[in-house]
Amino acid sequence: MENIISAKNIYKFYGEYDGKFEALKDINLDIKRGEFIGIMGPSGSGKSTLINILSTLDNHTKGNLFINGQDISKINNKELSDFRMKNIGFIFQNHNLLDTLTNRDNILTPLIIAEKGRDESNRIVVELAKKLGIEELLDKYPSECSGGQRRRVAIARALSNKPNIIVADEPTDSLDVKMAMEVIETLKRLNIEDGMTVILVTHDQLIGSYCDRVVLVKDGKLENEIVREYKNGEEQIEFYRKVVNLTSKNIEDLLGVI
Ligand code: ADP
Ligand code: MG
Repeated sequence: MENIISAKNIYKFYGEYDGKFEALKDINLDIKRGEFIGIMGPSGSGKSTLINILSTLDNHTKGNLFINGQDISKINNKELSDFRMKNIGFIFQNHNLLDTLTNRDNILTPLIIAEKGRDESNRIVVELAKKLGIEELLDKYPSECSGGQRRRVAIARALSNKPNIIVADEPTDSLDVKMAMEVIETLKRLNIEDGMTVILVTHDQLIGSYCDRVVLVKDGKLENEIVREYKNGEEQIEFYRKVVNLTSKNIEDLLGVI
């Protein structure tokens, strides 16, 4: 399968004069079209920095980033923002819905920015609402919805421009288990049914077990990765155990367990 995103020797430095901080060090990562990849690791390890760079929201300091085989350093800002608008749907940690707009208008916002016609936009909203089971919520305000419902509205908004990549930074953070499962199962369905590439940051092992592959970030480096062996019939529960193993190594390190 072809790579949709390819990071080669990526570094990210924060700060210039009073002490440079290396947030990412020599990251090499290929993400295949249609893949569901998880990025895990302790707090402060560089997960958000990495996902922001992979999705072109932030600039890297050194190295090369290729999207659809094209080196993004050779693309101007206008082309890059067009690319983002057409290809990537973002789901942020704090869902970022506007409280003064109804859910319908929140979902419509990216379509208005993209200057889609009113009829087509309304059709897209209804179609997405059906897919995400939020038809009854369209005329409510975000503040009238539960946490899980708001995340689903945020997913609908992220999908309204029909992206082929979904980038989600801790989309289930601060949700209870049931709501978190609703969100992750929605993302999994979009991945399987529509072939969307999903790049997900999470520190939740159960959420990680929905991925095809999980990479572990530690101190700004890609430390390790595990892949779900669908070919060998590996069940999600077995992959979950691998995720637990992978991420608990960190805890053991922190506790000084050998
Ligand atoms: P994570 O998402 O894994 O919790 P982040 O990518 O947010 O980690 O941060 C990685 C490291 O980079 C942290 O030590 C954080 O303090 C630092 N960092 C993140 N953003 C900035 C910034 N804008 N300026 C300086 N340091 C930053
Ligand atoms: Mg983060």
